[in-house]
Amino acid sequence: MPHTRLWIGNDWAEARAGNTFETLNPATGEVIADVAEARAEDIDVAVSAARSAFADSRWRRMNPHKRSRLLWRLADLVERNADELGLLETRDNGKPYFEARRIDVPSVAQTLRYYAGMADKVQGDTVPVPGPFLNYTLREPVGVVGAIIPWNFPLSMAAWKVAPALACGNTVVLKPAEETPLTALRFGELAAEAGFPPGVLNVVPGFGETAGAALVRHPGVNAISFTGSTEVGRTIMRESAETLKKVSLELGGKSPNIVFADADLGQAVKGASTGIFYGKGEVCAAGSRILVEAAVHDRFVDALSARAAKATVGDPMAPTTRLGAIVSEAQLDRVTGYIEAGKREGATLVAGGDRVSVNGRGNFVNATVFRDVDPSMAIAREEIFGPVAAVIPFDGVDDAIAKANDSLYGLAAGVWTRDIGKAHRMAAEIDAGTVWVNTYNQYSPASPFGGYKESGFGRDLGFQSALEKYTHLKSVWVALDG
Ligand code: NAP
Ligand code: MG
Repeated sequence: MPHTRLWIGNDWAEARAGNTFETLNPATGEVIADVAEARAEDIDVAVSAARSAFADSRWRRMNPHKRSRLLWRLADLVERNADELGLLETRDNGKPYFEARRIDVPSVAQTLRYYAGMADKVQGDTVPVPGPFLNYTLREPVGVVGAIIPWNFPLSMAAWKVAPALACGNTVVLKPAEETPLTALRFGELAAEAGFPPGVLNVVPGFGETAGAALVRHPGVNAISFTGSTEVGRTIMRESAETLKKVSLELGGKSPNIVFADADLGQAVKGASTGIFYGKGEVCAAGSRILVEAAVHDRFVDALSARAAKATVGDPMAPTTRLGAIVSEAQLDRVTGYIEAGKREGATLVAGGDRVSVNGRGNFVNATVFRDVDPSMAIAREEIFGPVAAVIPFDGVDDAIAKANDSLYGLAAGVWTRDIGKAHRMAAEIDAGTVWVNTYNQYSPASPFGGYKESGFGRDLGFQSALEKYTHLKSVWVALDG
């Protein structure tokens, strides 16, 4: 069985205490690798590597054009190693290979190239102040960024954090999720191959309560960029208060996908289906609350259930597979627990709802649809993070807005209508960081992504949002009459 080490200062290192943990293939239950486990003392080493790299003129004074070229080169290397990275991601996470290879990995290269283009455009302004003064602003890197990411899109999430942080001149300590550490480690190695100096990117797999917490508390870390659950987000905000870190939190969601009676119903069914079943529903922006206008409700539910029944659950390596394996047994229990809660609370199961095994093993659940869901039920309020859709009827625009916003979360929303006025009114009134109209799950590195309410604050992706997150703004005053 392969053994992986920590990636610190462009080199492999064993964990100081020598602890390791296993990462599994959720489709088979097999152990893929024995992973060196970073603890507080290893986080210390990684943070000092990142601090030295930040102070080192090789990085600090690097010509921004060169920084840009390094990011571009890393994108090339990601593409050159796309098969390997896709395979690692699929084996570690359980997602279909075609998703990992055709969607995740290319999007990582795209994100790196977008931020390669930013590296030489990090600039301030001259400010018209009164008096005999010149005032200008400088955009300076924040320092060492601690990036903590989840297991659902391991390499994409790494790129969402690392690419803008490096483009702005920071250095990074990246803690991947314990379930999926493998692509992040390989990414660190590729960054060295691309030419990033030692310590600029360090990768330290470990557990949240130990490695993650140590990073959050570390006085040598200037900012925490976190993606994960709302619960852990709260802990991170509390724990980072002591050292007053700059914190950004991309958290959970219970996103409404809203279908009006005047929508192209075929498109809406397709969009609602991929909105909840893509990535096994382990997607922060999953359209898990499907709000459907009463006039088309029954027709819509029938079509969605028929589509769900056709979503093939199977071996993630098989090209016909649409639903891969749920990432872990713990997550599987959580998903099946919610399915039971839905039945108990009186919702009607119209598709799926079963644990499935493929070749007699693995953590699989089929595409599940509930109707007759009351907005007060757990399956309508809580993030399941699995392929479970809760269909809720509504009457008219006001009711749609009220129901859409009746959530502690506010990450994303979908609106399906042919009425342009209605579409824009919904876009304006929904409390969510992203609204998709007649589409779902669109992402671009150029477009900011993040939450309202308990879905967090700060934005991943985008240009201005990356500047705000990964730079300090310094104001310089120069007297002109001296
Ligand atoms: P999670 O349990 O919150 O874990 C996320 C990361 O935080 C993992 O690396 C975890 O480490 C670490 N962590 C756990 N406790 C910590 C602590 N006390 N201090 C520091 N770090 C700690 O979330 P998950 O179960 O991996 O991912 C699912 C969640 O992520 C969902 O709620 C989903 O909505 C959210 N998500 C949000 C977005 C977005 O952009 N808004 C995107 C994707 C996912 P270990 O797991 O290794 O212990
Ligand atoms: Mg795994």
